Amino acid sequence: MTVRVRFAPSPTGYLHVGGARSALFNWLFARKMGGKFLLRIEDTDQSRYNETALHDLIRDLKWLGLNWDEGPEVGGPHEPYYQSQRLDLYKRHADELIAKGSAYRCFCTSERLDALRARQEENKMPPGYDRHCRDVDPEESNRRAAAGEVHVVRLRTPMSGKTVFTDLIRGEIEYQNHVLDDLVLLKTDGFPTYHLANVVDDHDMQITHVLRGDEWIPSTPRHVLLYQAFGWTPPVFCHLPVILAPGGGKLSKRKGAASVGDFRDKGYLPHALFNFLALLGWSPGDDREKMTLQELVESFSLERIMPKSAAFDEIKLEWLNGQYLIDTPVDSLLDEVRRILELRGYAAELAAQPSMLRKHVSLLKDRSKRIDEIVDTGLYFWRDPDTYDEKAVAKYWKAETPERMRVLCAQLQTVTWDHASLEACYRALTETLGIKFADLIHPTRLAVSGLSYGPGLFELLEALDRKMVIDRIHRALERLGG
Ligand code: GLU
Repeated sequence: MTVRVRFAPSPTGYLHVGGARSALFNWLFARKMGGKFLLRIEDTDQSRYNETALHDLIRDLKWLGLNWDEGPEVGGPHEPYYQSQRLDLYKRHADELIAKGSAYRCFCTSERLDALRARQEENKMPPGYDRHCRDVDPEESNRRAAAGEVHVVRLRTPMSGKTVFTDLIRGEIEYQNHVLDDLVLLKTDGFPTYHLANVVDDHDMQITHVLRGDEWIPSTPRHVLLYQAFGWTPPVFCHLPVILAPGGGKLSKRKGAASVGDFRDKGYLPHALFNFLALLGWSPGDDREKMTLQELVESFSLERIMPKSAAFDEIKLEWLNGQYLIDTPVDSLLDEVRRILELRGYAAELAAQPSMLRKHVSLLKDRSKRIDEIVDTGLYFWRDPDTYDEKAVAKYWKAETPERMRVLCAQLQTVTWDHASLEACYRALTETLGIKFADLIHPTRLAVSGLSYGPGLFELLEALDRKMVIDRIHRALERLGG
């Protein structure tokens, strides 16, 4: 048996990390088993359809590296992969169930259903369809449909007994049939509901395993009943535990970020987010955390998905991202750093000093946890510092500092401008003056960057170039005294 799994998003909003994690587990499982990963767009809810969401979804899946073997853009043997283009198929299957007596047409008007709901509410009864049309004579039903009477198609759910299925993570789950409504399969506009389209497509596309978020568990007994009605074998179900925000509750933009796009905008690398999401509710069985794609694929197994809800720990994501930044070549970061710098208003500076970008990135990427941190801790590559870290000033800008800085500047006028010669110059000067290395280093860093930390000072000075460094020391002398 070839494993066939799918990610089946409804393009109604952005790609939430929960959805991305589902897609990723499906992808890993398919790659591990030498199977196929499908992307199917569940766009049958026309009222919630959103063209931008579809575009963003495809972009975000690609950005994460979740390529699909069948689906939009790549095609495949079960085309089309958009449910809105498969309406005939669902209609035919609904008709088949009507003919078998497993489904029936419901002609109830929306007025009747509204009144029913109001009555149920008033009497504190559970909401649900009262099965009014369940026993309409089939011939009458056919006649009314042929005459064009508006109707939906409902599943004839057994009124007693129970529906049992096995979930790979939670084990056996059972539902009493009487709590399951006669659910709508086909709506008045001829569009299928999620349930019908999802089951028909999973069968038609020969899906072997359904891996999805556990918010879909209540839908599963209905799906099982549908499989039974069609006489099909259901796939293996595996419902993934929910992802919670660090303090508990739902992950949301308000609590930091929620969508893949948010994390991209916050300066995370796709591989880091990929690695992190893979470890949300799954572990390789040892204490490895930073894992290559290949290692993740090799060690992935459904058995090690943890039943407990997983907490989204952004500190860990940051740490992982920092590790990935170290591995990422400078050149592959340039575009993103440029984009963020432009967003911060540095377009003119970028144009004036094109070669500075590379130096900026190479000196800061290994010290940063996120791409935006590379930008924000290195703005002094682009403009003179306008403030100086107060604590560092108090600590390092002593009464003797101005005089030492003036002597230093004189030397800097003529020294060969590379980091080794600069370092030699500083060493020699500290000896001549009989002071400590730190007495020159810290004030220089403060003067050129305004900060007390940063990349190796001599590499930094080399990158900034002679005139800029000397000018900035003069500026600090004016501003800090001396
Ligand atoms: N269209 C559903 C969603 O938006 C698919 C759920 C499933 O995987 O069955 O998540």
